[in-house]
Amino acid sequence: MTAQLISGTHLSQQIRRDLSQRVAALTARGRQPGLAVILVGDDPASAVYVRNKVKACADTGVLSVLEQYPASLPEAELLARIQALNADPRIHGILVQMPLPKHIQPQRVIEAISVAKDVDGYSVQSAGDLMAGLPGFRPCTPYGCMKLIESTGVSLKGKHAVVIGRSNTVGKPMALLLLQANATVTICHSATPDLGLFTRQADLVVAAVGRRNTLTADMVKPGAIVIDVGMNRVPEGEPDAGKLCGDVDFDGVAGLASWITPVPGGVGPMTITMLLSNTVESAERVAT
Ligand code: NAP
Repeated sequence: MTAQLISGTHLSQQIRRDLSQRVAALTARGRQPGLAVILVGDDPASAVYVRNKVKACADTGVLSVLEQYPASLPEAELLARIQALNADPRIHGILVQMPLPKHIQPQRVIEAISVAKDVDGYSVQSAGDLMAGLPGFRPCTPYGCMKLIESTGVSLKGKHAVVIGRSNTVGKPMALLLLQANATVTICHSATPDLGLFTRQADLVVAAVGRRNTLTADMVKPGAIVIDVGMNRVPEGEPDAGKLCGDVDFDGVAGLASWITPVPGGVGPMTITMLLSNTVESAERVAT
């Protein structure tokens, strides 16, 4: 392996230490940051994500208010709860865990959250703020990826960045953040005919696809920075079956890249850390 590892676990710990101090300062002024987490239904993966977020709040001193509802909750009742939390001065961030049951329209729910408390950065207003280069909450996963890239000390100015994936929560905001950092950005997706043609030109590749081995060594320019957002499982019948893996063939690509994130321990820990960061920032905005 020639690449240096970008450890999201390590960077997360550093950022959380700094956040804990900011939380303590706010709490001392009677303004403890508060995050409301809403879980509707009993999806087991969502329950794990929510538990991790609540634990991260406790570890950092952020107040968390967990609201759990059955899958049958009417949409109108969920919207009414969000309105109440919008008006609650103890709460500085509101997160509704996705996916929601089929009878609830996710965009309607996201738009009901006050922009000032939209710490996931998923609303149309927050997306527009990012697009226009205005202050606002950035979606946590791409925001965390930017922090990982910054931690290498490599400037993105004039570099060619290729983002694989164009979801509203990862790929698109990632591309906009890279553009803001003065990279030249290419976005690839499932209809891109020859992915390698683009990635081989890239100084930085961000893979956010959800498909194992999407990026292999033959697709990477020597010395590139590689950020792996993917979260997949090794299929049954293969060595390491069931283990968590990313979108990048780590062993092959690490032999060529200059910097690379592992899975697990790369982007994953940063997502919750940036959620905490947005919540603390929201509380600081109110407090000043
Ligand atoms: P998504 O909404 O399913 O989007 C996947 C994107 O990949 C789509 O834009 C799709 O293109 C593109 N794609 C699919 N197959 C492709 C191919 N063969 N070549 C090139 N592009 C292809 O997923 P997401 O929410 O963005 O998440 C992506 C991955 O990141 C998933 O594994 C997810 O679990 C993971 N993730 C991790 C974290 C974390 O905290 N670590 C957070 C969020 C997501 P089309 O648009 O054309 O369909």
